[in-house]
Formats: sequence, structure tokens, C-alpha cells
Amino acid sequence: MTGSGSPRVIAIDGPAGSGKSTVARAVADRLGLQYLDTGAMYRGVAHAVLREGIDPSDGAAVSEVARNVTLDVTRSHCMVDGEDASAAIRGPEVTGAVSAVAANPEVRGEMVARQRAWVVERGGGVMEGRDIGSVVFPDAELKVYLTASPEVRARRRAAEAPGVDVDSVAADIRRRDEADSSRAASPLVTADGARVLDTSDLTVDGVVDAIVGMLR
Ligand code: C5P
Repeated sequence: MTGSGSPRVIAIDGPAGSGKSTVARAVADRLGLQYLDTGAMYRGVAHAVLREGIDPSDGAAVSEVARNVTLDVTRSHCMVDGEDASAAIRGPEVTGAVSAVAANPEVRGEMVARQRAWVVERGGGVMEGRDIGSVVFPDAELKVYLTASPEVRARRRAAEAPGVDVDSVAADIRRRDEADSSRAASPLVTADGARVLDTSDLTVDGVVDAIVGMLR
């Protein structure tokens, strides 16, 4: 949103491994804005679903969890119903279940409402996810769609998870790309008016410079 009095929102979307989290944090620091990882919210719901022994494809039960769960996502932590789930939400169980949970329209409705409330409470921020520019804040001051080649994305994610081989990370990314892009509810798309940036051959600083430059 632009204009005096409106919260300042920078929307950064893109697939897994495109560099969103690292870049969005750095952009927030440069601009003195708060940062929200909306993927951590969907992961938090998936964690609560698994913890309660619910099948991620049980739409009604999953929706109820999403409505009732208390999520506190900060820059470094994800608290789920008061429990520190920061490590668990990055584990293979949650990563395997999150796309099914995020495809549920009622889960999305609940998370989008919470994301909009977050912006109102903080007076703006840098938000990263899959649908920020297309659905959550279509009038954001700047919308960026980050991409990178599948090989680069798999290497980046493997580097974050020591002991996990690149091939299995690549397979996981392909599966989530397919699920996130083909779902009926708010699929991963390049939002109207979004600036597309391929980060394959850029450093983090290079990407951040490019994004901050787009604001000028
Ligand atoms: O960003 P990250 O890879 O942690 O997101 C985990 C999953 O959460 C994605 O694969 C996607 O299914 C879902 N997600 C979403 N919409 C968002 C952010 C994440 O559907 N805004």
C-alpha cells in the first residue's frame, strides 16, 4: 500500500530455495521494517495438525486446528500453542505435510486474516511467502517474485540442512513446487505488477540492492 497513513508493505514471493527468507530479512533491516515469514505460519499449522494425530488431508479437522492454534512467529522463533516449534517446523515431517495443509482454503483464509492483522499492528513490514503480492497485499508498495534455477535452489536448501543429500532436497522441492503451483486456492503465481528477479547468479547483497533500488 502506498500513500500517507497506509502501512508500508513489501511483498516477496517465490518458490522454495529462491532466497526469499534471507533476502526478505535483509531488506527489512535496510528499510527499518519488521519481517514476517508466512511459510512459518503454514508450517506451524502443519506441526499442530501432526501433533494432534490428524490426517493433513482431513479438511474439516485441519481447518479447526488452523482456527484455534496460537501462532507466534518472530524473526528467529515459531511458537505453536506456547511450545517452541522452531526446529520441528523445518523437519521432514512438517515439510512433507505443509503443502497439503496450505492447500486448504479455510486454512488460507485464517492465515491471510492473521497476516493482514500483523501488518496493521506493526504499521507495515516485509512479508515473504507464495501469495503475498497476489492475494494478501495486492496493493503492496513493491511486489517482487524471486526465482532461481532448480539446481541452485536445491543446493541452497541442502546447504541449510547438513547431512541431507542434494538429490532428496531436489525431489522435495519439485514435489512442493508442483503442489503449490497447481492447487486451486491461491496457487503460487507471479502477481500482477510483480518484478521478477532471478537470483541464480546473484549474491544476497546483490539481490537486496536490486530490490531496494526498485523502491527509488
Ligand atoms: O516458505 P516455506 O517453504 O517455508 O513455506 C512452506 C510451505 O507453506 C510452502 O511449500 C507452501 O505450501 C506454504 N505457503 C503458502 N503460502 C505462503 C507461504 C507458504 O502456501 N504465503
